[in-house]
Amino acid sequence: MAETEGNNTLARKLVRKMVKDRKKHNAVVDRLEKRNKTLELEIASLKKAESENSQKYSELLKGNRVLVQQKKDLSERNQTLEWKMAELERRIPGAVKELQDIQPHTRSLICKRCHKRRIACDGGYSCAQCAVDGLDCEYVKCRRFDNMKYGRKGCSNAACTQVHDEKGVGLD
Ligand SMILES: [Zn+2]
Ligand SMILES: [Zn+2]
Ligand SMILES: [Zn+2]
Repeated sequence: MAETEGNNTLARKLVRKMVKDRKKHNAVVDRLEKRNKTLELEIASLKKAESENSQKYSELLKGNRVLVQQKKDLSERNQTLEWKMAELERRIPGAVKELQDIQPHTRSLICKRCHKRRIACDGGYSCAQCAVDGLDCEYVKCRRFDNMKYGRKGCSNAACTQVHDEKGVGLD
């Protein structure tokens, strides 16, 4: 009888230990699963970044190819220009120097109508296009340039197509 009771106590102890161990194991499994999920998320975001990077890389490569082509075109055009200049110099000695002495192009203005229609404007007043159409030719005053009046920075855009202080464009 005493032996059976002892066995029962032992069995209960074992069960308690097993339950405790299972709880511990479950906790470890939980932790591992959580860690696994975090790793999966990290892997997913790395994969995404990788595909984005490879896309960026291929875009850069494409841009580079375009640039290389443009550079080639430009150098070809430059070559042609040099040939033409040499030809001109051969025919009219001193012509090239004369051409080079001409002041570089000043800013070219674009009137409102030509700007809206996205067509070339000669910047005159009236411009040829508006004159042909028989309509008023108007120019926009550059607001950034006008800002100088208030002590602010003016217009630093060398290619600005609006009126700064030009006279004779209907704004003076
Ligand atoms: Zn125009
Ligand atoms: Zn015009
Ligand atoms: Zn301007």
